[in-house]
Amino acid sequence: MADYVIIGGGSSGGVIASRLSEDPDVTVCLLEAGGPGTSPLVSTPGAFAALIQDYRINTLNWRFNTDPSKALNDRRLYNPRGKMLGGSSGMNGMVYIRGDRSDFDHWAELGNDGWGYNDVLPYFRKAENNERGEDEFHGSSGPLHVSNGKREFDVYDAFIEAATGLDHQANPDFNGASQEGVGIYQFTVKDGKRASVKACYLDPVMGRRGNLRVEVHARVHRIRFEGNRAVAVEYSQDGQLKTIPCEKEVIVSGGAIIRPNC
Ligand SMILES: Cc1cc2nc3c(=O)[nH]c(=O)nc-3n(C[C@H](O)[C@H](O)[C@H](O)COP(=O)(O)OP(=O)(O)OC[C@H]3O[C@@H](n4cnc5c(N)ncnc54)[C@H](O)[C@@H]3O)c2cc1C
Repeated sequence: MADYVIIGGGSSGGVIASRLSEDPDVTVCLLEAGGPGTSPLVSTPGAFAALIQDYRINTLNWRFNTDPSKALNDRRLYNPRGKMLGGSSGMNGMVYIRGDRSDFDHWAELGNDGWGYNDVLPYFRKAENNERGEDEFHGSSGPLHVSNGKREFDVYDAFIEAATGLDHQANPDFNGASQEGVGIYQFTVKDGKRASVKACYLDPVMGRRGNLRVEVHARVHRIRFEGNRAVAVEYSQDGQLKTIPCEKEVIVSGGAIIRPNC
């Protein structure tokens, strides 16, 4: 039994599990189909290229393929996705970039209250522990480590110089006043290691909060309803079908690409 049952321990599910369980008066259960995501392939930023390959031995990646597309002569396109605690934040390119202000404002204009840029900005700031420090757009006391891209090669500066010479504007902060321009990315990396959602939000609290239960290799098959209320979640683990009743809410955070019946 848990107050909140979260399906999928990826970028969104991991954050929600960590934030909800800050309240000691609620119980939270996080169910993740993949494993704990402890491989050095995950924590080593440079191993990203190996993780996204379509290797059969790669159990950290769902290795999806799209349906055949007529526009592509019936070809299927390979689509990697993280299958581990931390989800795709355990295998992504680590570039720290938000949606553009106009994207959020468009959502709000369509009637989605609370999704305008000025509504979501406080949450971006709350999330960040940005090497840049604190300002109007950034926070420095959140769990998510964001570091400056290193200017390791002269070609980076040469590229920016060439672009600004052609009248493109230099932009020192793509997550600041404007996204337009040329500059150096920031990355979700800390001390040379991937700052995944697992590393930033789950590792500091798993096993330390009695109200947070995290189950891995736990693949959800079904949400049980009584009337129009979700009351339990069925999942398989170690070859057994298990059920966890839910008191308050079932949160579906299995990713945008995966099929519900996968
Ligand atoms: C190769 C790659 C590179 C990327 N590069 C960047 C980048 O540089 N910068 C950036 O900002 N974004 C990048 N992204 C995108 C970003 O990582 C995703 O948008 C984000 O992680 C999605 O979060 P999510 O919570 O929606 O899904 P995910 O993080 O994918 O989490 C979904 C989780 O649910 C689990 N799950 C699914 N079904 C079930 C089930 N039935 N039962 C239990 N668990 C289940 C999955 O195993 C997974 O762990 C990249 C993504 C990929 C794949």
